[in-house]
Amino acid sequence: MSLRLLAVHAHPDDESSKGAGTYAYYLERGYEVMVVTCTGGEQGEILNQQVAADPAAQRDIGGYRRGEMALAQQLIGFQHRWLGYPDSGLPPEGTPVDPLSFAGLPTGPQVAALLRIVRDFKPHVLVTYNENGGYPHPDHIRCHEISYRAWELAGDPNAYPETGAPWKISKLYYDEIFNPARVAALSDWVQQYEPESAHAAYLAQMHERMADRPNHATTRINVAKHLEIRDAALRAHASQVEPEHQFFFLPNHIVRAAWPTEDFRLAASRVPTTTPETDLFAGITAQQIAAAATPAAAAPPAAAAVAAETAVAAPGAAPAQT
Ligand SMILES: [Zn+2]
Repeated sequence: MSLRLLAVHAHPDDESSKGAGTYAYYLERGYEVMVVTCTGGEQGEILNQQVAADPAAQRDIGGYRRGEMALAQQLIGFQHRWLGYPDSGLPPEGTPVDPLSFAGLPTGPQVAALLRIVRDFKPHVLVTYNENGGYPHPDHIRCHEISYRAWELAGDPNAYPETGAPWKISKLYYDEIFNPARVAALSDWVQQYEPESAHAAYLAQMHERMADRPNHATTRINVAKHLEIRDAALRAHASQVEPEHQFFFLPNHIVRAAWPTEDFRLAASRVPTTTPETDLFAGITAQQIAAAATPAAAAPPAAAAVAAETAVAAPGAAPAQT
């Protein structure tokens, strides 16, 4: 019986900057990993001078980014689905999003589209952004909202029955990869061992800027072995990253020595577990996997399953729409 991880992201490139190391880690262990990308990233600015000079990118950035996504997918090896919504862009504060964009359209059909994928793939673990979207892009916030609804509803036989048989996801995580503890550790390591490094001033500045932020990470996945492939996947999204951008590409000997993990927050769990954790699947036992695989047989001990259901952290503002 294979264990399955589903990660829901807003734009092509988000999966490579926020979790690709973890996907490589679990794929190497024989787990199944699927990434859902909610939008095509058509509103993304071209942030790489070389790509900006390419007429193909200028003419059809959505098509260009589909090619980039296919390359990243090939490099890491996860399964991939597009949810198929148009990118909302990042409108200036106070300006409403386009009503025909992902964040402007009603959530109901979006939840249904995601449930169709969830009930088909049957993930044990669902990973997405926190209630603020990780950073306040309207597509990231909407991504959180529909993922949270999918977490709540996937196991409910009365919710969207047309999208497939109910499937109860065991654990829900939020990405906390760019957390203050990580930045502090990287900055401290460079100050101590390579104070002459070109990255010292940049990291010190970032450390200072993030120092007051709370750290919600509960679960650290050691991706030391997968840093190079993670970088390659992110560079595959060439239109979105300068190939040597300091924020994304610190030298990996520093990352390995100072903070070799990708970090997540356990937001809710239907299986017993204790934090801190080093495995997103902690607490999901063989017995639970077998029970989840045969919903009919699992029906009698429902009381026990409910007793094990624990909200570990405040789920945040879940949308009321269905
Ligand atoms: Zn994004």
